[in-house]
Amino acid sequence: MAVPGLLVCQGLVALLLAISFLCGRWSIFQGTSIERIHYLLSFGAHNYFMRFVQFLLGAKCTNAILSVEYFCCDRPNPILQIIYLAIISMTYYFIAKSSFTYIPGYYLSGIHRYTSLLAVAVGMLLFLLTSFSDPGTVKADNVSQYLSAYPYDSIIYTEKECSTCKIPKPARSKHCSICDRCVARFDHHCGWMNNCIGERNTRYFMAFLLWHFLLCLYGTVAIGLVLAGRLKELTVVYILTVYYGIENSPLSLAPHIVQWLLGAYHTQVLLMVFLAIVALPLVGLFGYHAKLCLTNTTTNETFKWQEYISRQRKLNEAKASAAALRSNMSGISSEVKPSVSKWRALFRRSRPKDLDSSVVKNNVYDKGYFHNFYEVIFPMSTRRSFSPTKLKSG
Ligand SMILES: [Zn+2]
Ligand SMILES: [Zn+2]
Repeated sequence: MAVPGLLVCQGLVALLLAISFLCGRWSIFQGTSIERIHYLLSFGAHNYFMRFVQFLLGAKCTNAILSVEYFCCDRPNPILQIIYLAIISMTYYFIAKSSFTYIPGYYLSGIHRYTSLLAVAVGMLLFLLTSFSDPGTVKADNVSQYLSAYPYDSIIYTEKECSTCKIPKPARSKHCSICDRCVARFDHHCGWMNNCIGERNTRYFMAFLLWHFLLCLYGTVAIGLVLAGRLKELTVVYILTVYYGIENSPLSLAPHIVQWLLGAYHTQVLLMVFLAIVALPLVGLFGYHAKLCLTNTTTNETFKWQEYISRQRKLNEAKASAAALRSNMSGISSEVKPSVSKWRALFRRSRPKDLDSSVVKNNVYDKGYFHNFYEVIFPMSTRRSFSPTKLKSG
């Protein structure tokens, strides 16, 4: 009984950590332990660790850790790529080792021995495609095409030059400090892929996220069916009801079946919980990026829009305050209905919502769901219109 209890605790702790890490900043968790765990996981633990090292071993050791961190986080390196390959191959190995002996089973046909391998291989292929494809590097010889493909909106993008590459910076591009290059329609630098996600490989990245979510789902359901098959083949329900006298109802049987599964098939149960937990951030990330793709926005641009909107709101608030002050001053000087003007000023001041609604996100690159989706699948730089126009002789 101790082992199943431990497994349940392990699963609950993993779930709590996953929820805290992913959703800790949501407003519903404000002031709760989940927000505190999120802080600890994202910055707190690192801060405390560095302070501890500084206190115990001095500045030299802190600097050595910071330089290792610089290599791991701020320079291109394959550490996370290796970790991904290790996770997917180890998970597949453990699933094959623990569950393939029961395939074919009562609910699963023998074909799943091969389809599972194929599904993992496709996942790895999408990973390699995203990792090693060109994200849309802007160079001197293609910058003019990118400039015409992505015109400046004069809101969040204005004519600029990249101070590092010394070439014009097309709208929607960004210089990635890790890869040291300008990337068109820059989304973000992905550590797992050791590559930027940009104009040309967003489609592979999206396929990677969706495929790996489906892969986790497939694994969870397949292992579930293996266990359900074992339950049927070993006539567990019959034994429990006839020999142990347990009432034949799902509610009475469930705890006994769970206990039996955790005792006899704990590896499979653990793998199922692991796959289900991994599926959550994958589907969340896919949903987030799908929304961005359908509205033709990038992760980089969401920050730019946030900055723009908060700047405009502050500007509008300052304008409204100045106007209120002016009207107050004129009210005092003419001494007409001072009480009414005060209330009006108060009323005016309590209208930030009106002011907020005047600040809107005007995304000129959003051309409707269909066109936005088409642009991700067939990026501008892959189209014929993008190729450099050669001067016709004669
Ligand atoms: Zn650059
Ligand atoms: Zn990069």
